[in-house]
Amino acid sequence: MSDAYHQLLDATIRHLEILKSQGVEHVPVLSETLAALSAKPVVRATRPPETPGPGPVSERPKVPASTTAVRPTFADPVGYPSVSAPKPSTVPSAAARSRWSKAAAPMPSNPVPSKPPLPLPPPLAREAKQAALAGLRTQVLACVRCPNLVASRTTVVFGVGDVDARLLFVGEAPGADEDLQGEPFVGKAGELLTKIITAMGLSRDTVFIANILKCRPDTPGQTAGNRKPRPDEMDTCIPWLEKQIEIIQPQAMVALGATAMEGLLGKNALGITRLRGTWQDYRGIPVMPTYHPAYLLRNQAITEKRKVWEDMMLAMDRVGYPISEKQRGFFLSK
Ligand code: SF4
Repeated sequence: MSDAYHQLLDATIRHLEILKSQGVEHVPVLSETLAALSAKPVVRATRPPETPGPGPVSERPKVPASTTAVRPTFADPVGYPSVSAPKPSTVPSAAARSRWSKAAAPMPSNPVPSKPPLPLPPPLAREAKQAALAGLRTQVLACVRCPNLVASRTTVVFGVGDVDARLLFVGEAPGADEDLQGEPFVGKAGELLTKIITAMGLSRDTVFIANILKCRPDTPGQTAGNRKPRPDEMDTCIPWLEKQIEIIQPQAMVALGATAMEGLLGKNALGITRLRGTWQDYRGIPVMPTYHPAYLLRNQAITEKRKVWEDMMLAMDRVGYPISEKQRGFFLSK
């Protein structure tokens, strides 16, 4: 068999050993995937083996719905209800970490990412995290790696939140409002994200919010509008986010939209529509892909809001935040 086959086999075994060391006891595998793994690999004589394409998506875990569903009011166009905060502790409990690490964690049926999964460094104490993040912030605010973005930006948008956040929300890139204020998610989509976070019983101060790209993508010849970051821009800027993740080491991350998912998981990532609601993995940190809040502003169907809310409940449960019966019923029809 080819060297590539053995490299993939070794990588899979290492990945499973990491999961086992984290307490994961079961890894769901589709029957089609097992059949594909059992098949004799084809060795090409004249070409190197191709990188395997993405396999079928594992089934989405279901969040149980309440029988006492409460439909939220839609006094505001967004419709995300507010709840009183359950006062989560700032330090994640060992029990909470144990709970999410032992929970059945549906993994993608193709666990081989496009980037080698480097292990995270040992976690820092809170004071050391604050110092490291402050030092990183100084570096990022002075970054001039993308001349076109440096020429057009007003500010560099580093990120905001708690250095000990259990949840890290990852977005795409700053827009016009964020560029002016130097803070991520402060425009209309940001207001919706804040409402979602509030509905979770949390606040922007208890999570961390950052973007794949720290500077607003330029739009030459236009005075307004946004554009998706280019792959070369994302590749240039992603090391800053990687450093933020290494320092914070959240218990889970939420990838807001396809670009965030692509930046975190690489170009093998399948479409957001197929992957949302299913746990992915970034260097041992579970990642929940979901729709970007801007999508919910364009499509205000209650079914789409419910999908995002179900993803948020999965994230809450994964990191040990309680979910009330009222919260379980958000966006369910009576
Ligand atoms: S987008 Fe990122 S890498 Fe490029 S100049 Fe801004 S901070 Fe630096």
